[in-house]
Amino acid sequence: MKRILVLGAGFGGLQATIDLDRIFRREREIEILLVSEQNLFLFTPLLPEIASSYINPRHIVQAVRDIRGRRRFGFQRELVRAIDVSRRQVELASGTLSYDSLVVALGSRTDYLGVPGAREHTWDFKTLEDAVVLRERILDLCEHADHTADEAVRRQMMTFVIVGAGYTGVELVSEMHDFLFHYVVGRYRGISPAEIRLIVVEDAQEILRGVHPKLAKHAKKRLQVEGIEIRLGARATRCFPGGVEVNSSQIIPAETVVWAAGVRAHELVEALPGPHDRIGRAIVNEHLQLETHPEIFVVGDSAAAVTAPEAPRVAPVAIAHGRLAARNIAHLEKGEPLESYRYTSQGILISLGMNYAVVDIWGLKFSGYFAWLLWNAVHLFKLAGLKKQLQVAIDWWLAVVFPRDASIVRRPRRCKLCGTDAAQ
Ligand SMILES: Cc1cc2nc3c(=O)[nH]c(=O)nc-3n(C[C@H](O)[C@H](O)[C@H](O)COP(=O)(O)OP(=O)(O)OC[C@H]3O[C@@H](n4cnc5c(N)ncnc54)[C@H](O)[C@@H]3O)c2cc1C
Repeated sequence: MKRILVLGAGFGGLQATIDLDRIFRREREIEILLVSEQNLFLFTPLLPEIASSYINPRHIVQAVRDIRGRRRFGFQRELVRAIDVSRRQVELASGTLSYDSLVVALGSRTDYLGVPGAREHTWDFKTLEDAVVLRERILDLCEHADHTADEAVRRQMMTFVIVGAGYTGVELVSEMHDFLFHYVVGRYRGISPAEIRLIVVEDAQEILRGVHPKLAKHAKKRLQVEGIEIRLGARATRCFPGGVEVNSSQIIPAETVVWAAGVRAHELVEALPGPHDRIGRAIVNEHLQLETHPEIFVVGDSAAAVTAPEAPRVAPVAIAHGRLAARNIAHLEKGEPLESYRYTSQGILISLGMNYAVVDIWGLKFSGYFAWLLWNAVHLFKLAGLKKQLQVAIDWWLAVVFPRDASIVRRPRRCKLCGTDAAQ
C-alpha cells in the first residue's frame, strides 16, 4: 500500500486532495490522506466582511468531512509538528505517519518584520478567529467610547490604524469604514463621526503593490474620498499599548493597530531542505517539486515557483498548484513526463466596501458599482457548496435591509482601558 500525504486543508491542499482522489479513485493500493490542524476549509477572501459584521463567521467555513462527501480520501485533524524528509515521515501529536509522496500546503504566517512590539501589541488578521476577535474588539471600544467623557480618550479609542496597504489591509479598512460610519454612528450616540479615524500606514509609495497603477490610484482616491487617511512612505517602527510609531519619529495614538504588513512561509516550510526565497518559501522546480526530494511537492503560499511574472500569493495560484501537484504525482506513478507550472493571472478583484470595487479582469479595468456586483458574483460562485453560497447571499441581502449585528458574544472581563468590565 502506498500513501500520498497532503498537509494543510487550505486552497492548495484541498484541491490537490480532491484531484488525487479523482485520479486514483480505482487504485485501491494507493491511500490518500489529508492532515490539517483544523477540520474546516476557510474562504479567506470574505474574512474582512466578518470583521465588519456583514456576514456570519460560520458561513465562510466548510467542514472538510462535508466537502469530502462520497470521496474516499482519509482525513485526520492534527497539528503537523515536523517533516523528516530523510525518513519520509511526518511527525504528529499522535505519532508519525510515513509517506511515499508528500504535498506540503501549509500556507503562510504573519511576519512582524522585526518591528519592536508588533507581535505583542497589534491585532493579527489571518484566521477566522482573528476576524471574530477584531470584530468584538471594535464593538468593545465603541461600547466604552459611548460613555467616556474625556474627548481625547474617546478619540484614541476610535482611532484604528492598519499597517500595510496590500489587498488585506485595503479590503479590511474599507469594511471597517462601512461598519463604523454606517452602523456604529447613530447607534452609539456618545460617538461623533468626527472622532472616528481610520489610518492606513504603508512603507511603499503606493497602495496595492502588484495591482495595475491606474487601479491602485483609483482605489487610493476612493479611500481618501471616504475619509480614510493613507500615509505612504510611512514605516511602522515601533508598536506599544495605545499606539504606533511611524518612521522612528511620529507617534499615532490608537487603541487598535492591525498588522497586515508582512507574510512569511510556515516554519515547517522554512525547515525543508534546499533553497528558500527571502520570505522563507521553498524554491521548487517547474514541476513544483523540491529539487533534492522529487517525492515532495510544495504548493500555494508555501511555494516559490520560478515563473515570469512571479505569481502572487493568492487563492487561484494555490488552487492551480494543487491541481498540478496532483497530476504530477500521477505522472510519477505511471512513469510519464511531468507537467510544468505556468502562471496566468485570473484577474484582480478588490472590494472597497459596500457598492464599490476595482476590477482588472478579462483585459478590462473598471471600478464602481458594477465592479462591486462582479466582485460579489465571483466570490459567491467560488464559495464551495450551495448551502454556503445561499447563507452568504442571504447575509448580504439582510445587511442591505436590516442593521448589522453588534452583539458581543464573549463574556466581559476587566477592561484595560477604563477599569470596568469589558468583553476584551
Ligand atoms: C485576510 C486574507 C484575505 C485574503 N483575501 C484573498 C482574496 O481576496 N483573494 C485571493 O485570491 N486570496 C486572498 N488571500 C490569500 C489566500 O488566502 C492564500 O493565498 C491562500 O489561502 C493560500 O492557500 P494555501 O493552500 O497555500 O494556504 P492556506 O489556504 O492558508 O492553507 C493552509 C492550511 O494549512 C493548515 N495548517 C497550517 N499549519 C499547520 C500545521 N502545523 N499542521 C496542520 N495543518 C496546518 C491551515 O490550518 C490551513 O488549513 C487572503 C488571505 C488573507 C489572510
